[in-house]
Amino acid sequence: MEYKKNDIVRITIEDIGNDGEGIGKADGYTLFVKDAVIGDVIEARITKCKKNYGYARVEKVATPSPFRVEPKCAFHRQCGGCQIQAMGYERQLAYKQNKVCNHLQRIGGFAPKLIDTVMEPIVGMEEPWHYRNKAQYPVGYDRAGNLVAGFYAGRTHDIIANTDCPLGSPENQVILEAVLSYMRENGVSAYLESTGEGLVRHVLIRTGFTSGEIMVCLVINGKRLPEEDKLVERLTGLLLEGTVLAGDSGQSAADDEVSAGVCEQSVQMEGREIPCKRIVSISVSVNREKTNVIMGQEIRVLWGRGWIEDSLRVLDSTDFGTAGRADEGTGNEERITFRISPLSFYQVNPRQTEKLYCLALEYAGLTGQETVWDLYCGIGTISLFMAKRARKVYGVEVIPQAIEDAKENARRNGITNAEFLVGKAEEVLPGFYKGNGASDEQMRHPDVIVVDPPRKGCDEKCLETMLAMQPKRIVYVSCDPATLARDLKVLRGGGYELKRARAVDQFGHTGHVEVIIMMQYCGKEKN
Ligand code: SAH
Repeated sequence: MEYKKNDIVRITIEDIGNDGEGIGKADGYTLFVKDAVIGDVIEARITKCKKNYGYARVEKVATPSPFRVEPKCAFHRQCGGCQIQAMGYERQLAYKQNKVCNHLQRIGGFAPKLIDTVMEPIVGMEEPWHYRNKAQYPVGYDRAGNLVAGFYAGRTHDIIANTDCPLGSPENQVILEAVLSYMRENGVSAYLESTGEGLVRHVLIRTGFTSGEIMVCLVINGKRLPEEDKLVERLTGLLLEGTVLAGDSGQSAADDEVSAGVCEQSVQMEGREIPCKRIVSISVSVNREKTNVIMGQEIRVLWGRGWIEDSLRVLDSTDFGTAGRADEGTGNEERITFRISPLSFYQVNPRQTEKLYCLALEYAGLTGQETVWDLYCGIGTISLFMAKRARKVYGVEVIPQAIEDAKENARRNGITNAEFLVGKAEEVLPGFYKGNGASDEQMRHPDVIVVDPPRKGCDEKCLETMLAMQPKRIVYVSCDPATLARDLKVLRGGGYELKRARAVDQFGHTGHVEVIIMMQYCGKEKN
């Protein structure tokens, strides 16, 4: 049967697509349906027809899937952030586990039997809400011309007014409302993408979950905000979770050694101990470009310091439970503290990051004698974990500011065996391999190479040099299983065998998944 746009069909959702969408068939014709949950029987309206498949949207859920749950967020269907909030969390985890296995098999060409043997159970979250430590809210106007902050509707730049995202930190709402009232009272305009006019583009809020320290950074299309002191006054006067006026910490906010990444004051909330939240950094980021890139490179501090601190526990064990859903893990007293600036990358889900980094440590198999390269090192997070157990660690990162932070982080933690280099991994690594000045044999032939690239994966030149360096083990941390699988195929071709693999859910309710794998050199080149 030939289908056309606007046809209504009744289908059963039998599979889940790459972005978490439901997949069903109408008389053999495959339809991709956003917001449909595997197991649903739905009435779908076809929105687009291609030759062999089409797209549709849910008109009515006729029989809900046993995996369907009531979403927490009223905006989940419009917002581009959460693709699978209507799917029960356990089913989300199973979907992600399966997605990783499929990519390893289809793109990586690994045998299903090998994948079965090496894949460990996905590490889920204890509490899959309010887990994000970072949010970037666009500011603009709604249809009626009201000043709003919120989220972009999926695949568009229309702003949905919503300051209460259930994935974000709860105090974000109070902070955003304060920014909006400052703007209204002082006639500060929001940026309009269509004309390139107006001032405030985004509000970035970052929270140190252990330190309680909060950074607020307004991204503006100009050099200054009108009445900047009024903004500072408002924000520092906020009463946040469990505390103390933010303004009380004004003195210590300027002090650079205050917190050591752990807040001494804490309160009991819902049976959990949480640190007192306080704003310690207010800044603007100047972005006058007509671009989708959120942050501008120039940061000016209006109040407090230019960064927040947070700390991560070095967990004792990676025995997170086998039921798919991991418990919190146990921490000894070992912690590493990080300084985080507005422009530097820091994992968005700190509780899961502790688990991820401890897996990285375990997969690296360090005894204290090793030389390790940590490529795409950001502010040196993984490097400093490795440095605790290795002889020497070299971190490479393209953003100079992040490398500044990495060096400062090493110093603060008393770590002296980590060195950080600015540059592209695909340039720095070959440079040292070819024997650039300072490189010694151990640098040229490290024991372990760790990589944690952005979604697009590793550059070919980087992979090539890794193979030439021939480390015993390669640990690959990835936020995109498709490019991971592509790169692993190259590494396998160069003589490496896949030994361990585990997915970690860093991004609950979204279709994204983090994966960590370990490959070991097996001495013979294979294809
Ligand atoms: N390992 C860190 C950061 C991972 S995010 C952590 O877990 O916190 C990826 C990092 O790679 C970002 O900091 C980004 O700035 C950096 N990056 C992107 N392209 C790069 C390249 N070609 N060479 C080196 N670093 C790069």
